[in-house]
Amino acid sequence: MRGVREVMTHCPYCALQCPTRLRSDDEEVEVSPGSLSDGRPGALCRKGWTAPELLRTPDRLLQPLLRGADGELVPTDWDRALDFMAHRLRDLRTEHGSDVVGVLGGGGLTNEKAYLLGKFARIALGTSRIDYNGRFCMSAAAAAGNAAFGLDRGLPFPVTDLEDAQVVLLAGANPASTMPPLLRHLERAQLVVIDPRRTATARRAALHLQPAPGTDLALLQGMLHVAVVEGLVKREYVRERTVGFQGAWQQASAWWPERAEQVTGVPAAEQRAAVRLLAEAERSYVLSGRGIEQHTRGTDTAAALINLSLALGLPGREGGGYGCLTGQGNGQGGREHGQKADQLPGYRPLSDPVARAHVARVWGVPVESLPGPGPSACELLGMLGAPGGPRALLVFGSNPVVSAPHTNHVRERLAALDLLVVADFVLSETAALADVVLPVTQWAEEEGTLTNLEGRVLRRRRLLRPPGQARSDLDVLSGVAARLGQPAERFPTVPRLVFDELRAASRGGRADYSGIDYERLDAGEVLHWPCPTAGHPGTPRLFLERFAHPDGRARFAEVDHCDPAEIPDEDYPLHATTGRLLLHYQSGAQTRRISELAASAPNPFVEIHPDTAHALGLSDGELADIDSANGHVVARVRLDRGIRPDTVFVPFHFPGRGTANLLTGNALDPVSGMPQFKSVAVRVTAHGAA
Ligand code: SF4
Repeated sequence: MRGVREVMTHCPYCALQCPTRLRSDDEEVEVSPGSLSDGRPGALCRKGWTAPELLRTPDRLLQPLLRGADGELVPTDWDRALDFMAHRLRDLRTEHGSDVVGVLGGGGLTNEKAYLLGKFARIALGTSRIDYNGRFCMSAAAAAGNAAFGLDRGLPFPVTDLEDAQVVLLAGANPASTMPPLLRHLERAQLVVIDPRRTATARRAALHLQPAPGTDLALLQGMLHVAVVEGLVKREYVRERTVGFQGAWQQASAWWPERAEQVTGVPAAEQRAAVRLLAEAERSYVLSGRGIEQHTRGTDTAAALINLSLALGLPGREGGGYGCLTGQGNGQGGREHGQKADQLPGYRPLSDPVARAHVARVWGVPVESLPGPGPSACELLGMLGAPGGPRALLVFGSNPVVSAPHTNHVRERLAALDLLVVADFVLSETAALADVVLPVTQWAEEEGTLTNLEGRVLRRRRLLRPPGQARSDLDVLSGVAARLGQPAERFPTVPRLVFDELRAASRGGRADYSGIDYERLDAGEVLHWPCPTAGHPGTPRLFLERFAHPDGRARFAEVDHCDPAEIPDEDYPLHATTGRLLLHYQSGAQTRRISELAASAPNPFVEIHPDTAHALGLSDGELADIDSANGHVVARVRLDRGIRPDTVFVPFHFPGRGTANLLTGNALDPVSGMPQFKSVAVRVTAHGAA
């Protein structure tokens, strides 16, 4: 073979970030699994095995595009695209002030990109209006984790710890579809799964609890009730390592399992069996996923799950624990480096004067020039083009036209803008609406770092030159910043330099990266944050001695169930829940372009119980109309006995009239800003019957 190159990197998709060996001979790119952190062979799912096709997709954006006078996107060069963008941004800011520009980042951006994007928004644009699509993903669990433990890291232990588990509760998580290689770590455990659908994971479970969508909090209260009444609470642990148990119990005491059964549909006997399994095993883990988090009470629901875990004495000990399965590739790092509306690098609160002073010093700007916290992603999208709202939006690594709730509303708001700029490597549904489209690099064309679901910092390595005129997002930010009058050295384009600055900015913060550098990572060190000094070994397990609150104790939360924002009624008599499929990732902008994945999972569908379908006069494979108060979807019926008869499921990866988020609404969790993706009231009818 001529010109063979090989790099060790990681899959471009989910937060498991499977190690990947890439090999290229100038004609083909071959992929194979790399080694796990302990040297054992890793594995890839079909998304990982087929990811090289993404590097050769014929849809690849190779030149910047500008919308011409005739309304068409036409190719241009970088100088013209960036000059146009900077000129429009300057004019808008002069006329309306700095907050006229909004920025939407993404949980798939590398740490370096997420960091530089936050810095760019706050000092080159001077706007407070920046948030990212991780708001739709992890925000509720993160808020609950921070409140309970004083620190949020998806898994506060290495994923390999799960291999010794005897029992694992998966609450609203379906790793058999979303990250199949994770199941290798769960092979020895008995699984207890909470999900309204009999998912691929639920089919492996010893016990499957099927609550009605939007009732998880009531179920978890019922389970805490069981733990207390049956004497399964770890009293010594609760006394020595926690505060607030009485307040949590006061709320849960009213949720005897029979009452929880009435609300959730989960038999009291199953609630009892689940709690006994967890409590009586020596090594139990509780893992949370989007199913319980993506609700208007998402933070409270995640907090109720933490309450149960604390009552059973699981968090912060070896051989047990609580964690959250982050979804997006850099969902963890993406929320630590400053692209979130309320945060500065190091996972520091933007409102904290000490954090502001530290970061302003690193950035070399007056502290008073730093804007304050801004709106969360959905609030930001809802303000676009409205009086006092942003008139320009810059989108990096996100496709809100498919992934954000109430997508009709999102389209309306985007259309009201004076300037929409999208940086992506394919013409996503959002990029297709933009005034300026910027072609950027993707995984195997760039260097950088990501932080996986266990808080381990990983190197992304470059195998290929970017095609055409594609550039790194770092170059884009630097180019625009220079045109807005920023000194060049303030916006470096070399990933290693950006990471070194990120380390300095994170020093002393909750997510302290200051002891991690490219040399250590390239030497094969396994480093989980916090890692505060060059000689520090990193922290694979958090909370073993103490939690991160000043008194070292975890907090129970006083939470209670209330109905979700939308509940079925006469007009919309069914619950709809949205979610992911084995063969697609996020908005599908990437995986829909992989021939094998697209051929196997080409179309949107609505999963429905055969009895429900029969009652509605629907049969397998026919087109159905799905209507909610927010919008209308057309999809083929797929019968499945594993779903609750009062519930339908619509995957969210597809555009057009099958976009699941046409159905979802604007209701948000007041704590985290999480939208309600998992519980929408709908009506399903034969297509065209209405
Ligand atoms: Fe990629 Fe996630 Fe599949 Fe691993 S599980 S190969 S990271 S998509």
